[in-house]
Amino acid sequence: MEEHFIPGVHNYCDRWCERCPFTARCRVYANEQEFSEETADPADPAFWQNIKKNFEGVLEMLDKMMADMGIDPDEIADENKEKPDPNIQALERDMRDKTMQYANTVNDFFERNASYFEFKSEELEEQIEDGLPVDVESWQFFQDAVDVIRWYQYFISAKIHRAIGSLEHMEEFDNPMQSDSNGSAKIAKIAIERSLGAWEVICQQLAEKKEEILTIQQQLQKIRAELDQLFPNLNNFHRPGFDDEPDNTVRLEFNPN
Ligand code: SF4
Repeated sequence: MEEHFIPGVHNYCDRWCERCPFTARCRVYANEQEFSEETADPADPAFWQNIKKNFEGVLEMLDKMMADMGIDPDEIADENKEKPDPNIQALERDMRDKTMQYANTVNDFFERNASYFEFKSEELEEQIEDGLPVDVESWQFFQDAVDVIRWYQYFISAKIHRAIGSLEHMEEFDNPMQSDSNGSAKIAKIAIERSLGAWEVICQQLAEKKEEILTIQQQLQKIRAELDQLFPNLNNFHRPGFDDEPDNTVRLEFNPN
């Protein structure tokens, strides 16, 4: 009965079991269900496909928007060209500051716009009650995007912290490419890219917040660039399960690696 579980599939996932296509093949999920009465909904393929669609082209769009606003994208890229500090503790501090700054920015954004979300929700309810045509799909997608951002806002920090903390153990792995550092960095990068896609969805609904959202996206993009620099082999890390079944899983299709 155990053979259908994928060994290690839970090690480099995002712990979002409700949206995971591997619940039936994950030992950790099975264990947790034994202690939980809740049954998670099956993963919805359309959800990740939508987020993927919005991530595609977002980097190019960011460059164009920055150029329109008189910001030189190359200058920002140059900021990331400095050699990373080889001191692991200093690196941890630096990246924790940057990732927590992002997480706090997310909180600020949603607090500032809480009344808008409330207003939109009430407006939608009234329209439905009055029998007026409403774009429920777009609103649902918008809410899903909020969920994505909220899910990953601290996850990114935790995974990058782990990736840096494990750096000194990299050589202990028979295959350093498959080190815990690379795996943690890879899932952090995936979380960043999904968040970028989700912010794009928010931006489409809140056009008046475009500049504010762009600043947040830039924050994320800088962290992403630094990750690539710190872990040049992260894209080659093989995530059990997620990187094995491209024809069967939507998650993998989203994964650009
Ligand atoms: S692999 Fe999927 S089911 Fe298992 S712990 Fe991770 S997100 Fe949950």
